[in-house]
Formats: sequence, structure tokens, C-alpha cells
Amino acid sequence: MSTPPAEQEWTIQRLLEWTKPFFERKGLDEPRLAAEILLAKALGCVRLQLYTQFECVPSADELVTFREFVNRAADHVPIAYLVGFKEFYSLEFEVSPDVLVPRPETEMLVERSLELTASNSEPIWLLEIGTGSGCIAVATCKNAPKVNFVATDVSQPALELAKQNAETHGVADRIQFVECSGLEIPTNAITDGGFDVLVSNPPYVAESELADLPPNVKNHEPHIALHDGADGLSFYRIFAAESPRILNPSGTVLIEIGETQAEEVMNIFEKAGGFGPPQIWRDTVGGHERVMSFKRKQ
Ligand code: SAM
Ligand code: GLN
Repeated sequence: MSTPPAEQEWTIQRLLEWTKPFFERKGLDEPRLAAEILLAKALGCVRLQLYTQFECVPSADELVTFREFVNRAADHVPIAYLVGFKEFYSLEFEVSPDVLVPRPETEMLVERSLELTASNSEPIWLLEIGTGSGCIAVATCKNAPKVNFVATDVSQPALELAKQNAETHGVADRIQFVECSGLEIPTNAITDGGFDVLVSNPPYVAESELADLPPNVKNHEPHIALHDGADGLSFYRIFAAESPRILNPSGTVLIEIGETQAEEVMNIFEKAGGFGPPQIWRDTVGGHERVMSFKRKQ
């Protein structure tokens, strides 16, 4: 940061006013919000408190911390990794570079899971493949007391963080975390009679499209969370072919998809057979087809 004119001190207001256009020039999304989140973290307060302290001058140590955050954010390190948390479905999730930063469009998977399970008065079992931070399973459990999850990932550090998030939000007793790949679920983790819902936001970016992702994503988020080493559709092929083995006869597959994948995913499930026509929902972020569900045909 450049030095302020001697007569002017770096008040909270001036820091925010300086940082917003700086972030804008660096191409960051929501630059003012990013500046506020980082400054609140550097000062150890909540974001809204900044507005009651506009004229306060942070200490030299706090300024050093903030400057470091600003420099790293300008290098496109995700704000969520810098502050260690991200809000998702109105809950705060701990995140680290071991997990994908939860996306607002993924909240739709929670809404649809809650709808699918709403009429059940008995305990109900869902399976999540690729839980990452645990945001989907935790937010769903938090809002539906009868829901239980088996939540999987291939990443041990991700599972550790997901467990931590489940404990923080008081739902750890209803989520069994399992380290496994795809649908290779250990038999003893498969619910008697099969799961009611398989929900997943799998890695769906084609390896060839990784280079086109924004720098905060491709340079900082775990590649294992983003792409499948192939055409981006591998997980859907696995779910279509193998989920009948672990779902109950009226079970549903509920998935997030990439914005151009709906038709291909529909063809995959149609070819596999055993499922009714899909329901498709668009996200509110860009209006893209983002979530699909396939219910088993009985
Ligand atoms: N559910 C989280 C969310 O929506 O924010 C994370 C989704 S992220 C797109 C995909 C997750 O799948 C990552 O946590 C990654 O580690 C995991 N994953 C990658 N390959 C996998 C595999 N073969 N089997 C299970 N999980 C896998
Ligand atoms: N939607 C993510 C992105 O912003 C990709 C995550 C995924 O592959 N599921 O790039």
C-alpha cells in the first residue's frame, strides 16, 4: 500500500475506500465486500462493526495483517481461505485450501434435499459423494432433524474438516464420514434397504477446461475437487450405472452439473435406464441449468 499523506491517518473508512478500487483493478469479485471481510478479520471484529468504527485507526500490527491479506487477495487467493471460513446456507463453515470453497449455487442441493425429505416422519438416510467441507450434509441435517447422512470423500484432510464443521453445528451424531472413491462404499456403511437420496456436487469440470477457470479457482482450489481427469462427466456415468445398487427402489439421484451439461447428463441416465425423466433447476447466480434429479422407476 502507498503511504498516506502525513496529515491523514488510515482510518477504517479510508482503508476500505482505498482497497475497493485496488481490488477492482485486480479483477476481484465483490471488491468492497472482500475488503470488509478481510479488514474485519484483521481487526478481530464482525463485519458490521466496521460501520460503527469508521473513524477508528487500526494499530500498526492490525495494519500489517490487513496489508498481508490485501496482497494475497490481489494474487487471487480466495478470501475464504484467507479468513478461514465461508458462509453457506446461513451457516459459517470452516474452510482451508484442502476443500472447495462452498458456492452459493450449491445451496440449491440443500433446498432440494430438504424438499425430498420433508414428508418423512421416520429417520431417513442420504448419501453424499464428495462432501468437501461438509457444507451440503451439515446444512441439510441442521434443517431436518430426521435426516442422517453417509458423507464420503477421497480426501482425508477434507473429511477431517467436514467432521469439524459437523461438530461445530451440532450434527456430527447424524453424519458418518467415510473415505472412499465414487460409489465404492464399504458394505457396512450402506443403509439397510438402501439410501433414499444420493446427493453430490462432484468434480465436473473437464480437464481440458481447467485452464479457462478464473485464477482464484484454478490456482488455489484443490484440482481433485474441480475436474475428473476426463470430460467432466465421469461421476454422472458412475451414478447412473451404479446407484441402483445402493439406492432404495424409490430413491433419487440429486446432482449439481456444469452449465452446459444438462443434455449430456440426461442422455447418460436415459442410456443407463431405470430412472424417470429428470427435473432440472436453474441457478439464480447466472440462470444456468445447475441441479438435476433422477428418481428411480419402480
Ligand atoms: N460437497 C462440497 C461442496 O459442494 O462444496 C465439495 C464439492 S467438490 C466440487 C467435489 C469433492 O469431491 C471434493 O471434496 C473432492 O475431494 C471429492 N472427490 C474427488 N474425487 C472423488 C472420488 N473419486 N470419490 C469421492 N469424492 C471425490
Ligand atoms: N462450480 C465450480 C466452479 O466454480 C466447479 C465445482 C465442481 O466441479 N463441482 O468452478
